[in-house]
Amino acid sequence: MSSCGDQIGITSTIPVEVIFAAGYLPVDLNNLFISSPDKERYVEISHEEGFPQGSCAWIKGIFGAVMDCQAIKKVIGIVRGDCSGTEILLQALERHGVEVIPFAYPFPKNAYELIKEIDKLCRVLGTDINEAVKWFRKLRPARERIARIDLMCWRENVVSGLENHLWLVSSSDFKSDPESFANEAEEFIMEAGRRDPLDQRYGLPFKREVRLAYVGVPPIDVGLFPLVEEMGARFVFHETQRQFSMIHSLGKPGRKEIRDALSAVFGLGKNLQEEPEDLVSFIAQYLAYTYPYSLSDRVADINEQCDLRRIDGVVHYVQSFCYRNMEDVIFSRELKLPFITVECDCPGTIGAQARLRMENFVQVLGENI
Ligand code: SF4
Repeated sequence: MSSCGDQIGITSTIPVEVIFAAGYLPVDLNNLFISSPDKERYVEISHEEGFPQGSCAWIKGIFGAVMDCQAIKKVIGIVRGDCSGTEILLQALERHGVEVIPFAYPFPKNAYELIKEIDKLCRVLGTDINEAVKWFRKLRPARERIARIDLMCWRENVVSGLENHLWLVSSSDFKSDPESFANEAEEFIMEAGRRDPLDQRYGLPFKREVRLAYVGVPPIDVGLFPLVEEMGARFVFHETQRQFSMIHSLGKPGRKEIRDALSAVFGLGKNLQEEPEDLVSFIAQYLAYTYPYSLSDRVADINEQCDLRRIDGVVHYVQSFCYRNMEDVIFSRELKLPFITVECDCPGTIGAQARLRMENFVQVLGENI
């Protein structure tokens, strides 16, 4: 049995500052599942519970991980803006005595509704928004280091696609210890800074390395990242992972509408002790987060980052039985670069068919650069 402490499970990125402010430690259940040597067993636990074979392996893995890690007694589930299966997951967990707390990103995106939802979460966990904003400041050094690692992946070319992926996704909960996480990130930055550039590695089969963007839910098998590097390519943009990490809005000022919404909910200067600028930036961070709101926001972010990072082609990863697979309808028309969709089901390997399609895609891109 895994050993877990005083923790709250989260099914996806939420305003994690609230969890720290309330004195709990967040555990991203996706990371708990996928980093475990028992991940296949977690999926089996879900099948024994009655989850269908034809349902998403991420949901099944999360359910199995919580059942295994009996110290997780509370789970915050994102019931709007993440996954259509979360409500069922929460109800299945509740049957086993887990306290479930729903969190809903507003649709359409709306500062007032988001502030109300964050305030509700604060009240449920026994804290308030002033304390959450203090954690927003405390988490900044760790987020700045993640932003540095991302830069070292796409601009300095010394960080691999897998390394960047792992740092980005692990910052959804800071491995439950932001200070150690920031120190570990700093050590990694020092080590990576001494490397030779990966885009000049020996044996590239094309005129230069093929630069890829990854869009879609995180992969159930991270083998995709080293696989493309064997082929002469590298992922240098990780769309959803970067969004989960919240580095997209670092240093950007908040907007007037957020200030107005904060006044409408709390009355600025009356119930709020924190610096209004930090409060506004805290809310702005979760409004700038594209993933829970609209595909048009995501498309704009992807196209902008593809230009900036000089991307050659886009890989849309889709998870078998996931409703988000339909995002292809928009992505295939709105993304400006060559585009391929790769599907995977269970943890293991990405499969022969997906591998072959990736090889062909990289080959065609590489021959045309
Ligand atoms: S892959 Fe799709 S169905 Fe599975 S947990 Fe993620 S959003 Fe939900």
